[in-house]
Amino acid sequence: MERKPLKSLVKEVLDVGGCLVEENGDLLEVVVTPEIAGKLGLKEHEILYFTPQESRNGQFISYSSDILDSISELMEDKGHFCKVHLPRLYLKKERLDQIISQKLSLANSVLRSSRAVERTVSYLLLNFKYSAISEEKKEGIITVVVNELTLASPGEMMSTLLKGYYEGSRKEWRVEVRRPLEEVFSAACKVAEHEIRRELTDFVRRLDRRLNKDVARIEGYYGTLKEEVEARIQKRGLVGDDQERELSRIRAIDVELKRKIKEQRDRYSLRVNVELLNAIRVTMLASLVILRIRRKNREKRLELVWNPLLKDLELPACEGCFRPTGIFYLCDEELHHICPRCHECPSCHKAVCRVCYPQACPKCGGKFQER
Ligand SMILES: [Zn+2]
Ligand SMILES: [Zn+2]
Ligand SMILES: [Zn+2]
Repeated sequence: MERKPLKSLVKEVLDVGGCLVEENGDLLEVVVTPEIAGKLGLKEHEILYFTPQESRNGQFISYSSDILDSISELMEDKGHFCKVHLPRLYLKKERLDQIISQKLSLANSVLRSSRAVERTVSYLLLNFKYSAISEEKKEGIITVVVNELTLASPGEMMSTLLKGYYEGSRKEWRVEVRRPLEEVFSAACKVAEHEIRRELTDFVRRLDRRLNKDVARIEGYYGTLKEEVEARIQKRGLVGDDQERELSRIRAIDVELKRKIKEQRDRYSLRVNVELLNAIRVTMLASLVILRIRRKNREKRLELVWNPLLKDLELPACEGCFRPTGIFYLCDEELHHICPRCHECPSCHKAVCRVCYPQACPKCGGKFQER
């Protein structure tokens, strides 16, 4: 999946918004109609760049650029982006400590205090379409929801949303704090990647089975050919040049076998394309739960949301993989809160923070795989 979230987000929305967008390395070159140009405050032909130090002609786009708001409006016209404001829902006040202790397990830290305040929270719901292409093709749509304040992804709230709250309220809640869109989108992409991998598990297994069957068939066929040559050498008692000629035939068979196997692997290699279909921003009043957690002699503030649609506390997102996690560790270096998987080196099984050390384990030097 695309690793430059802001650029890919802008490209996606301009694309579906009816603009011509060309990707050119780190830049986007866009051609838009005069009408859209007016709306976005762009020239009809414009270069957009995303790294601030470059002094080029064109417009620098960051997550705080006004253009992002204008782009959302463009989406609103097209039905690709819309906003839903939920009515005031009942916010639970009691038994906070009990809920926290049921829901969270602090593996190497202790909870010092917790308090709750009312806060307007916004969520970004993103629909992604994926197509996995190999010998077979599989397509699907997945929806990811990300809390724009805490980056939690309480996917279960979707079913309640769809049950009727969806009509929303006319009152627009003003959101005071929201993470930069780039961070939210990046978290959503990671969650989407996990979801897509999960959905493709059976598909990948089936392809593997077919590949293994095909490879076994090819190995059988070429194995028989080799045996025939070996039998000939034996039977005729070949030596010297005659034997060498037959042996070179065996080597040629081996080369051909390797080539055929590689051909099969290429045939079954999997390519996954993911595209953003549309986005919905949901705002509602929720309870913001502020925790103070202590690890050794340092403290961390962790914010979680008690979600009135779920009637429950949202699990925090692991800072490493962004998956929801009930059990978490704080790392010694930066107090990142991470899930057990992101707190362990898969090679030496020692405690390592995968946020502080994303590439390799500082203890055994083992390289980390993309997850
Ligand atoms: Zn994790
Ligand atoms: Zn290690
Ligand atoms: Zn860390």
